[in-house]
Amino acid sequence: MKLPVYLDYNATTPVDPRVLEEMIPYFCSAFGNASSSNHKFGWEAEQAVAVARKRTADLIGAIPRDIVFTSGSTEAINISLKGIAETYSEKGNHIITCTTEHKAVLETCKYLEDRGFEVTYLEVDGDGLIDTNELEKAITNKTILVSIMLANNEIGTIQPVEEIGKICRENSVLFHTDATQAVGKIPVNVDEMNIDLMSISAHKFYGPKGSGALYVRGRNPRVTFSKQTHGGSQEKGLRGGTLNVPGIVGLGKACELSAEEMENEIELHVRKRDSLIEKVLQLENATLNGHPTKRLPNNINFCFSMIDINALIGDLNDLAMSTGSACTSASMEPSHVLTAIGRPHELAGSSLRLSFGRFTKEEEIDYASERLVTAVQRLLQESPQSIISKSKSN
Ligand SMILES: *Cc1c(COP(=O)(O)O)cnc(C)c1O
Repeated sequence: MKLPVYLDYNATTPVDPRVLEEMIPYFCSAFGNASSSNHKFGWEAEQAVAVARKRTADLIGAIPRDIVFTSGSTEAINISLKGIAETYSEKGNHIITCTTEHKAVLETCKYLEDRGFEVTYLEVDGDGLIDTNELEKAITNKTILVSIMLANNEIGTIQPVEEIGKICRENSVLFHTDATQAVGKIPVNVDEMNIDLMSISAHKFYGPKGSGALYVRGRNPRVTFSKQTHGGSQEKGLRGGTLNVPGIVGLGKACELSAEEMENEIELHVRKRDSLIEKVLQLENATLNGHPTKRLPNNINFCFSMIDINALIGDLNDLAMSTGSACTSASMEPSHVLTAIGRPHELAGSSLRLSFGRFTKEEEIDYASERLVTAVQRLLQESPQSIISKSKSN
């Protein structure tokens, strides 16, 4: 077994060798510009983009012309939220999102708030779910857009997107979902879920970094928004700029592979996930963050009380994981997601996310749970808080 074990698949995944193989010709030999319509080089590139567009659309139950290629989810989120806000500002200035969104959504919303839009941030329950009754109540005749993520990147909770989409549709409000963590891992269908706009990123499911897509519903209703990139008419003017052909080919291949392997992978991943969760939850100081069942098959997130999380991370340098604190310039800020699900400040700062995927072996999961349990037990024995709490209970 190679160390460290990579358990940070929700941050990024390795490129699947089958994806890379498909991309390679588009760097040096079939290197044409997909917009060059006068020669073979351009046609070749255009054809490859068309295949990728079809594969991407197929994975999410869309039609190819509703796919807009982008550099990833951050860009897809930015151009859709800002573009919709600008286009529909006559109709209203109200947007609804939730407190546990990725920063790409939260900070774009903040940007829009500074420009006169009103944003409602729905709260979530202890498992990270929004209350759809609250969503319904929050919608006014000024609401133009709801943006709720499909699956959370930190705690893995899967929102009731189908119901959210239905509520939006009934109220004639557009619905965007940040599906970056969901697409390629769990079934997503834009029609069944009443999704109008959806952001996707290749590098979260075995495709290359810097490649993604925005789904934009073309009919019932037809969605359009003002361009946020000027100077190119690519992607129907919704995202100008020379297409990243190898990246797009990689995204398409990643979509095709996920469509084929998803069912099997979900089963394998859920088994690994639940076995690790079961072992770790036997520790007296461990709690699981996120919904116990409505969660991504590959995501695990724990809080550990009474121990120093930095000491734990230091101990476990043979495991590549994420902590729940984003190291901002000077201070350690606890995760906004863990705060939103009601974890107290000190606990929110002591969380650990383990996320795995296609290339994670059974023995790596076993090794990780063993190492984690042993390290936490050792720190617990040394912890002054733990000694105090034990002597109190005696
Ligand atoms: C990774 C991630 C993003 C950002 O995607 P990029 O393609 O890296 O810009 C946005 N939202 C969620 C939920 C993510 O996990």
